[in-house]
Amino acid sequence: MTPTHTPPLPVTGRCHCGAVQLRALVDASRVFVCHCTDCQVLTGSAYRVVVPAVAGSCEVTGPVSRYARRADSGAVRYQVFCPTCGTPLMATGADAQGLATLRVGVLDQRAALAPVAQLWQRSALPWVQDLRDVPGCAQQELLQAR
Ligand SMILES: [Zn+2]
Ligand SMILES: [Zn+2]
Repeated sequence: MTPTHTPPLPVTGRCHCGAVQLRALVDASRVFVCHCTDCQVLTGSAYRVVVPAVAGSCEVTGPVSRYARRADSGAVRYQVFCPTCGTPLMATGADAQGLATLRVGVLDQRAALAPVAQLWQRSALPWVQDLRDVPGCAQQELLQAR
């Protein structure tokens, strides 16, 4: 696909416990949902939402842990997460200064980062596109009703 060019967007983010903070420039025209099974397991959820940081723009403050994942292609990607709370922060190549793919959920600007494409739909969970029809509530009132 040919993304429309948009100027890099400054973003800030933090892990759940606050020990790790990050800032970066991202390409907001390249926000992707990934339905691959790695993303399902590594997020503990149905899918992951990611955005690439502009190369070299990502600054991380605080201690992080890395988990090396070898893709089917043979390439190694490092899953970077907070060692205290486990929040997934980004994936990088072997070179930490290279391409970083940020996890949109940790970014303060996440509401503005709407996906432009869904990857790996062949492993998407069968119910994931139908959430609009599932009863909802503003907070968790429906839990009491059940
Ligand atoms: Zn943390
Ligand atoms: Zn994925």
